[in-house]
Amino acid sequence: MKNSKTEKRQLKKRHLILSILVVLLTGILFFRTLNYFRQVIIEAPTASLKKGPGIEYSQLKTLKKGSRITIIRSKYHWFYIKTSDNHFGWIADWNLATKERNQIDDLADATIVLDPGHGGADSGALSANGRMEKTYTLKVAKKVAASLRQRGAKVYLTRSADKYVDLEPRAQLSNNVHADAFISFHFDSSPVENGASGITTYYYHQKTSYSLAKSVNSQFKALSLENRGIDFGDFLVIRANNFPSILLEMGYINSSRDFEQINSASYRNQVASDVVRGLKAYFDSKN
Ligand SMILES: [Zn+2]
Repeated sequence: MKNSKTEKRQLKKRHLILSILVVLLTGILFFRTLNYFRQVIIEAPTASLKKGPGIEYSQLKTLKKGSRITIIRSKYHWFYIKTSDNHFGWIADWNLATKERNQIDDLADATIVLDPGHGGADSGALSANGRMEKTYTLKVAKKVAASLRQRGAKVYLTRSADKYVDLEPRAQLSNNVHADAFISFHFDSSPVENGASGITTYYYHQKTSYSLAKSVNSQFKALSLENRGIDFGDFLVIRANNFPSILLEMGYINSSRDFEQINSASYRNQVASDVVRGLKAYFDSKN
């Protein structure tokens, strides 16, 4: 009697060990299979493996078309990956097939290019007392940049100091980083002093940019200057841009009424917070 009980117990024990082993092996197989299916293939002729999630990071290695990689995690338009020969690093999602790319539907995951108009030798338009447009475009863009970064977005500025930058490279930056949104900041000027007043939102490519123009423009409700609405505008920085891009004219610098606003930090802060809210609404509307 005693012996048979012990035997039964041992059999049960063996059964348990066997069951655990089967579960373990199935688990390993499952994760291996899962891992295999998380592998993707480089579609671009060559892809740069970078140290961090951005074109500004140094390159670790070049991956050839057809290379099989395993995605570990993603940030912005970037994937942290493992190569088949066990190298780790970041690659841009535009090196992969369209269906593999990141869908950006959150401001915290967005890549945004801000373009403070003019700079350096190019002063932009002038106020009645000779104040320069380039000074104010930079102030607003920097304010927006700080706020967006605080919300986790990846922000590039076409200039962050008072220096001259051509128009083509401004649009090119947006094209290079595959910007989810590009915003150019300007202040208007009318042929005669005090000839016009108000703010205007411009887009060039209806298909890619109108919804961005709408999201941002609809936030300009509490501003002290009249919202003149959305309009088509043939500006190079938005015309040569392959990604959603708009140009904002945030008041007439040669209107004394508008300049009083442009010159006040509270007006500029309001503009900045409206732009950020507009961007948030734009990305929220994508999911
Ligand atoms: Zn301008």
